[in-house]
Amino acid sequence: MKRKFKYVPSNIDMKSLYNKLTIEHKEFPEIKVFEQLEDKNDISCHIMPNGRYIIYLKNDSNMTNCLLDTLKNPNCKCYPAFPHEYHNIDGRNICKWITCAIVISNILRTRCPQILFTKYEDAFNFTGQGLLLLPDFYSDIDMFNALAHELRHEWQYFTHPEWKEDYVMVNSEKDIPAYYNHISEIDAEAFARKLTSIVYGVDALNVDLQNGENLSAILDRAEEINILISDGFCQTNDDFLMTEDMLGYLRSILLCDFEAFE
Ligand SMILES: [Zn+2]
Repeated sequence: MKRKFKYVPSNIDMKSLYNKLTIEHKEFPEIKVFEQLEDKNDISCHIMPNGRYIIYLKNDSNMTNCLLDTLKNPNCKCYPAFPHEYHNIDGRNICKWITCAIVISNILRTRCPQILFTKYEDAFNFTGQGLLLLPDFYSDIDMFNALAHELRHEWQYFTHPEWKEDYVMVNSEKDIPAYYNHISEIDAEAFARKLTSIVYGVDALNVDLQNGENLSAILDRAEEINILISDGFCQTNDDFLMTEDMLGYLRSILLCDFEAFE
């Protein structure tokens, strides 16, 4: 079958759509928003070989209503998903990670990109393009940490644009030390481990997860980032507030799969 249509992902804040979706549904398929859809559709359904499907939405002011209506009365045109889109995350877990993404982006006071799932190895944030990829095989605590890390890159993109200038792309093994020593990677991992420690009630700061990570630099940076459990005010750019409600909410979402809370 010939499919020549070029899909352009929308670079938008997904928070309002995700908010309405998570209020009305406890599970839902992966959602992708594009500037235009094939065959002039407003919404379409893209089916993977494992039976899961992805909903494509055309970016316009009515897309949230269109999505909620279609979830109630499924009647949109169906297509096979592209092989690079296949993954194994079920609707309940998609809802869980999107809910966590909303809360974490609220803590960071930043926008929420499109949260997409992948069978590939690494989490990734196409910073500035509004797309964040999460692998489908991480354990819950690693997934939470990866989501917090990638959303922190979103915060960096708007708060520290100067960090992008000498960002290190990994093209070969020899780039790895410079990559892990760059301030944006150290800062993202420090924030993520600090938040993971609070939410899961464990010490995630002292676990050396990846070969080559600069643990002492991460610990130093973590000292400078204050995540306060408070309804108060931020004193500095490095202060982040998490209310008791947010913390309780995150734990209630993650609790079903994790029992090591104090
Ligand atoms: Zn990173």
